[in-house]
Amino acid sequence: MDPSLPEPEPLRALIQALRGLPGVGARSARRMAYHLLQHDPDGALRLGRALQDAVGQLRHCLRCNSFSQADLCPTCTHADRDQNLLCVVETPADQNMIEASHGYRGLYYVLMGRLAPLEGVGPDQLQFSRLLERATDGAVREVILATNFTAEGETTAHYLSDMLRARGLSVSRLARGVPSGGELEYVDAGTIAWALHERRPS
Ligand code: ZN
Repeated sequence: MDPSLPEPEPLRALIQALRGLPGVGARSARRMAYHLLQHDPDGALRLGRALQDAVGQLRHCLRCNSFSQADLCPTCTHADRDQNLLCVVETPADQNMIEASHGYRGLYYVLMGRLAPLEGVGPDQLQFSRLLERATDGAVREVILATNFTAEGETTAHYLSDMLRARGLSVSRLARGVPSGGELEYVDAGTIAWALHERRPS
């Protein structure tokens, strides 16, 4: 793991930071660092500024919990969205996939994660109370659970279904055209549109 040559501290720190990204191991982190420093120093500076701006300027939308520059995001304040439908997804990437399917005109709630008891992620960490508050605003008539079809996504959907139905809400789950173990992020738009249309009561 340790390189045979001692690395200057700033280089070591950069590689270490890149290794923190999902799916990036020691070797690709080193390759990215060398590439940025040697072949694309302007791009490296742009990346640094973009990261600083994004972290500094983004917050969580007060209604849907997705990333937003303002208190409320453009989706939540859009006049044409169906206020009766609330679709619950794990991540903003999943929300983008559902938007891209053009099969949905309701609103969203983004969990920013999924239940993972072994990693210490429970209902409190995910602030399920905020979702409950959002879903019981009086306008929402159906909550569509669009968590991933992974073990953790299913566990999250079951938990939320019980929690929301106990409050008298109508709850549905995406149809299973999405393959088992499937993450929405990697499913094509047509399948997602179908899974939304064919959703089942949960
Ligand atoms: Zn929002």
